Amino acid sequence: DEKPLHAFLEESAKRYPEKKALYFMGKEISFSEVYRQARKMAGYLQSIGLQKGDRVAIMLPNCPQAVISYYGALMAGATVVQTNPLYKERELEYQLNDSAAEIIICLDILLPRVTNVRGNTSLRHTIVTGIKDYLPFPKNLVYPFIQKKQYNMVVRAEQTDDTHVWNRIMENASDSYKKIEVFPKEDLALLQYTGGTTGFPKGVMLTHYNLVSNVQMCQAWLYKSKVGKETVLGVLPFFHVYGMTTVMNMSIMNASKMILLPKFDPGEVLKTIQKQRPTLFPGAPTIYVGLLNHPDLNKYDLSSIEACISGSAPLPIEVQEQFELVTKGKLVEGYGLTESSPVTHSNFVWTNRVNGSIGVPWPDTDSKIFRMDTLEEADIDEVGEVAVKGPQVMRGYWNNQEETDKVLRDGWLLTGDLGYMNESGYFYIVDRKKDMIIAGGYNIYPREVEEVLYEHEGVQEAVVAGVPDAYRGETVKAYIVLKSGYKLDEGELNKYCRKHLAAYKVPRLYEFRDELPKTAVGKILRRQLVNEEKDRLQ
Ligand code: ATP
Repeated sequence: DEKPLHAFLEESAKRYPEKKALYFMGKEISFSEVYRQARKMAGYLQSIGLQKGDRVAIMLPNCPQAVISYYGALMAGATVVQTNPLYKERELEYQLNDSAAEIIICLDILLPRVTNVRGNTSLRHTIVTGIKDYLPFPKNLVYPFIQKKQYNMVVRAEQTDDTHVWNRIMENASDSYKKIEVFPKEDLALLQYTGGTTGFPKGVMLTHYNLVSNVQMCQAWLYKSKVGKETVLGVLPFFHVYGMTTVMNMSIMNASKMILLPKFDPGEVLKTIQKQRPTLFPGAPTIYVGLLNHPDLNKYDLSSIEACISGSAPLPIEVQEQFELVTKGKLVEGYGLTESSPVTHSNFVWTNRVNGSIGVPWPDTDSKIFRMDTLEEADIDEVGEVAVKGPQVMRGYWNNQEETDKVLRDGWLLTGDLGYMNESGYFYIVDRKKDMIIAGGYNIYPREVEEVLYEHEGVQEAVVAGVPDAYRGETVKAYIVLKSGYKLDEGELNKYCRKHLAAYKVPRLYEFRDELPKTAVGKILRRQLVNEEKDRLQ
């Protein structure tokens, strides 16, 4: 569909004005109200000088302002730059400079961080908002970045020429704005920065067309009969492409209600499911694991959940089976990356799903396996690099033709993931090219070892990485979080691994931890663990 993304908010608001669009900690906001506030934001941004194509950074957790700012900025003609609220000053400054954003919309408690870097960037305006802007007297506050007791210490920003206060905008700004002509296939809706594990983060250029088509594929593929009827649980952060597309943009385009949770707190999520009865729950493996391990899991009624899609990392089969038992809903695996808006493959929810597989390419999406470093197509079942082609694939990396040329070849996006396709056309991810361990000349895929570890009854979370080793070049190390109260020592775990894995794959080193470092979508930061190990060895 060749409409800009924000046209769908207008459509949903006109068709279902009174329908609730957002639920946030006890408060509900209708589609017409979200649309009205987004118009105010658009008009206000234009009044402070925003021109078509200017970048607006948004640094917010999931809250009504995140949705309103995003759509308001698009309506004003801006390109949104999603900024992780957990960014420290160095990362923030890098992203603001790389994108040359002139306006930032941030949470009040993040203002000091923004103020400290502002002088070194091209920022001209800061718009400040707080959770209190929507919830004057929040009861069970889950404020993501501060302790409850500090809540009343949040300082409210003063309105000045270059600092703007959310409530004043919503109270005083007019709700008309200048409509900007948008060319969906050319104009950038978004600069979405990658995680940066391969060097400095890269800004992925996604057009309106990229983002709209990814949601439409999702509608066609998964929920066709239910479009608009589902209630979507928004635990995945919207500043990450996965939550942005599968929760925020999908709910706006389907006119579904979304439930916003500003952070992943397992107890809060369980309570919210019981009370708000969402039907759809996009998540990541560590989110489902976190819920399954909550001590009071069995006290909650999770039966409203009909479908969950898990992406961002491999879904251990154990976790899939257990979560389906608890909710009675379906949990299927999908796959994607920032460079493709993000989803490219998934299983079907209701039929023909294949556990352990990421499913098949979505409608309008082609996928192939290429022999490593050549563009020759691999045979059935032969491991190579997964490549994808489709309307959701990015225009390239922002100001970085060199990196763009490495991954975009003749319209094919090289994903950097190793995988294969079986004879039924189902795809399997073996591992990331970069994560493959080469130990004593053998190739070892961390994922295979992790699957075995997850099958152990005492293991709650496991991650395997290649760490430097004088003799084997790299060796296999496992980091384990045990289920609470479970006792297990290295010797026993090693014996178990030897029983289930060829000797060269068995971890040589084990480390038990209380928790593992994770990204905003709950992906375990394998590379951080490897770096810690390297630092230790130096
Ligand atoms: P960076 O690309 O900068 O290293 P990142 O991991 O945060 O950081 P994303 O675009 O968020 O980048 O994640 C995409 C990657 O996540 C994929 O390339 C793939 O490695 C992994 N991934 C996503 N879904 C799955 C899945 N179902 N199984 C295995 N891996 C997956």
